[in-house]
Amino acid sequence: MNFADLGLSDELLHAVSEAGYTEPTPIQANAIPSVLMMKDVIGVAQTGTGKTASFVLPMIDILAHGRRRARMPRSLILEPTRELAAQVAENFEKYGKHHNLEMALLIGGVSMGDQVKALEKGVDVLIATPGRLMDLFERGNILLTGCSLLVIDEADRMLDMGFIPDIENICTKLPKQRQTLLFSATMPPPIKKLADKFLENPKTIEV
Ligand code: AMP
Repeated sequence: MNFADLGLSDELLHAVSEAGYTEPTPIQANAIPSVLMMKDVIGVAQTGTGKTASFVLPMIDILAHGRRRARMPRSLILEPTRELAAQVAENFEKYGKHHNLEMALLIGGVSMGDQVKALEKGVDVLIATPGRLMDLFERGNILLTGCSLLVIDEADRMLDMGFIPDIENICTKLPKQRQTLLFSATMPPPIKKLADKFLENPKTIEV
């Protein structure tokens, strides 16, 4: 399998070759075409399998066109920790350098003022930990009604950290008509239940 067979744009193929990747990893080869077809996807994959690029790459193509609106992020990626959120943001910067996408990182330990300013300008990709996202939501700084693409990353770690009620709460604030991707190293029953509730007819990929 070749990156060029997955349906990604030429700009992304360029970014991928600049990153030095010669072929997609199994999770990338299986997930990228489904994500580009706007399907819901469950990716059962550990860190180190290339799972981040399996959602970041197709998201960049999906979000390449469209209008940003103040306080209404177009997509949302939930991460359990600040470090993971920052890593995903770095991936967007690396692969998205040929695109004009606005990204905001909402994590604890950083001034809320700058985060609020970024949201006001309008963002294509919001990468957040659940706690900080809920804080800003409750203060009225974010509207999730324009967010048609959701990624729940590291779902089993979210479970271990007690974030599932927050995630359920966040999911109910997003439009029903949306694409949802869930990644988890393991699929314990509470994560299966979460997926049953918030994903529609998902394609499951295990690597
Ligand atoms: P992840 O599983 O997303 O944390 O990625 C693990 C590491 O694999 C990261 O350092 C990526 O830069 C790298 N990587 C991702 N996709 C590929 C690929 N197709 N070929 C080689 N390395 C990759």
